[in-house]
Amino acid sequence: MHAFYADHFILPLPSGHRFPMAKYGRLRERLTAELPQVRLGQALPASDGELALVHLPAYIQAIQTGTLDAAAQREIGFPWSPAMAERARRSVGATIQACRDVMAGEGLAANLAGGTHHSYAHKGSGFCVFNDAAVAARLMQAEHARRHRAAGPLRVAIVDLDVHQGNGTASIFARDDSVFTLSLHGARNFPFRKEPSDLDVELPDGCGDTEYLEALERALEELEQRFDPGLVIYLAGADPHEGDRLGRLKLTFDGLEARDRRVMDWAWQRRLPLAFTMAGGYGTDMEATVQIQMNTYRTALDYHHRWQGVAGVRPADRSATGPATPHWQNPAP
Ligand SMILES: [Zn+2]
Repeated sequence: MHAFYADHFILPLPSGHRFPMAKYGRLRERLTAELPQVRLGQALPASDGELALVHLPAYIQAIQTGTLDAAAQREIGFPWSPAMAERARRSVGATIQACRDVMAGEGLAANLAGGTHHSYAHKGSGFCVFNDAAVAARLMQAEHARRHRAAGPLRVAIVDLDVHQGNGTASIFARDDSVFTLSLHGARNFPFRKEPSDLDVELPDGCGDTEYLEALERALEELEQRFDPGLVIYLAGADPHEGDRLGRLKLTFDGLEARDRRVMDWAWQRRLPLAFTMAGGYGTDMEATVQIQMNTYRTALDYHHRWQGVAGVRPADRSATGPATPHWQNPAP
């Protein structure tokens, strides 16, 4: 299974900054040591044209040149630097590559970061610069349309289980019937002004495993009644965990593992390719956040293995990609 990273573009933060930047490198370190079946590739940067499928050119330009006004920069929560701009592009690139991989028949693939769902078309917010899932969804639709002219549009379901609402994603696709946005999130958590997704499920503070998993089950049922996706992008946020500083929910390690398994099993049963991203995770103990993510990869490997047993299940998609481009095999830094 392939997974893409960009954490080696170090985003300089002032000391004492509350964002746990080290978790990305730590996840890559543990994947390398403990799960060699996950093949890691360096993410390529998303181009201006790709970003412009979602974002306003003036915003893309301001991020590139560091000319965002102070208030807009504060809303993102990171100071600007050339590395910040580069890393934001590559984080989108990682989700694009994961999506291409799964559309080419891999079944599952991942971004070691991503899930930047608070980013809108015209602005960033809450540690999110560009919206990786939104750009990847639109790009996969464009690539699908080129390959299968006669077929209808590729329909994409964005399953956002980060504990915070996917307000940017909801806003971007508010008037787009070809992308279904599902968000399960803490009712009383950031963002305090939420945007309507296609399906929002609000959870009370202190929500535990049973209540959460029942809500997820109902949400997946409703998604299925209302929408027929050809691709799933899953935001596997670690922040619903009981040890999270910002989450306000009380899911256990087992509960989060059951959550991942349910989403991946749901997609597998329907032979839906699934790309996943890490999204949020702010454990009091950073190692707990990384452990939750490691568990997500273990579960994903199980389903990736099942996909390999049915290689060719989607012959149209497999052949349509043309000669295999080893795009995941970028040289390591
Ligand atoms: Zn979050």
